[in-house]
Amino acid sequence: MKKYDSIVVGGGISGLLSALVLSKSGKKILVLERNENLGNNCNSYVVDGYQVDTGPHAITQLRKGGPLTYLMDNYLDYIPVFVDYGEYFIRTENGLKKVPTDLSGYLTMDILPRKDRLIIAQALTKMLVMWQFGTDLSKTSVYECLPWDNLSSDTADFTDTFCYFLSGRSMKETSVQRMFVGGGFVEESIQKDIAHEKNQYYNLYEEAKKVSYVSRLLNNKKVSYNQFYPRDGLKAIVNAILYSLPKTVEIKINGIVLT
Ligand SMILES: Cc1cc2nc3c(=O)[nH]c(=O)nc-3n(C[C@H](O)[C@H](O)[C@H](O)COP(=O)(O)OP(=O)(O)OC[C@H]3O[C@@H](n4cnc5c(N)ncnc54)[C@H](O)[C@@H]3O)c2cc1C
Repeated sequence: MKKYDSIVVGGGISGLLSALVLSKSGKKILVLERNENLGNNCNSYVVDGYQVDTGPHAITQLRKGGPLTYLMDNYLDYIPVFVDYGEYFIRTENGLKKVPTDLSGYLTMDILPRKDRLIIAQALTKMLVMWQFGTDLSKTSVYECLPWDNLSSDTADFTDTFCYFLSGRSMKETSVQRMFVGGGFVEESIQKDIAHEKNQYYNLYEEAKKVSYVSRLLNNKKVSYNQFYPRDGLKAIVNAILYSLPKTVEIKINGIVLT
């Protein structure tokens, strides 16, 4: 008689969620993980009192009916608490600097030369006005909209890093639209279907839709309105999955049976 209905190779979040869904449908599952940790990319640890996440730093598009929400609602025995993401900071020689979220933030961000900040602020304003009047910026890259002959290499490095941070791609591959959405400048940063649920997101949506894009450029206080962070770090999601796995799931780490 066969011992398992399915064998899942890899105990990252995908493998663990697969094991959860299959086992809650009555299947006997074996999970094989070759490393020592379950969750792999999706993990957290503490350094000098700071919580550090190994891979994902936030959960975006956490909306009703979205893939993660669907899996959590239907298969987890408890759902981690998601909190507002807060601010992004850049570590510099002179301490932590807040990542700008509006025009005055870009103008006063003293880690870049003053002239460069003025050029960035000018380009940002121009692009946002174009967006407000309906220009499609989904095919215009961040690289294309800045005059690189007039900007320092520090600014190029900063812009490229910021693009990688928000989109996982370089400034040549990141669209202006992606930056606006990721930076909380445009309405798409908030999911209407979440907001209409009249839950914790509703006030954010109401607050954000009151203002035009250009007004938000002048006075935007948040990087994004649709990113949330599991309290206790990304590992909280892995812990909730592990807690919810039925006894019909066996996990082997490096050949050693865990459950
Ligand atoms: C720096 C970084 C930032 C990220 N930021 C975000 C973010 O902000 N938001 C977001 O949603 N996502 C983000 N991601 C993506 C997210 O981390 C991954 O999509 C997700 O964690 C991948 O999970 P996984 O289980 O598919 O893969 P993995 O976490 O890679 O797990 C795969 C597992 O399979 C095991 N394995 C492989 N082959 C074998 C084998 N032959 N035998 C046994 N075991 C095997 C590996 O050891 C590993 O444990 C980020 C990723 C990185 C790296």
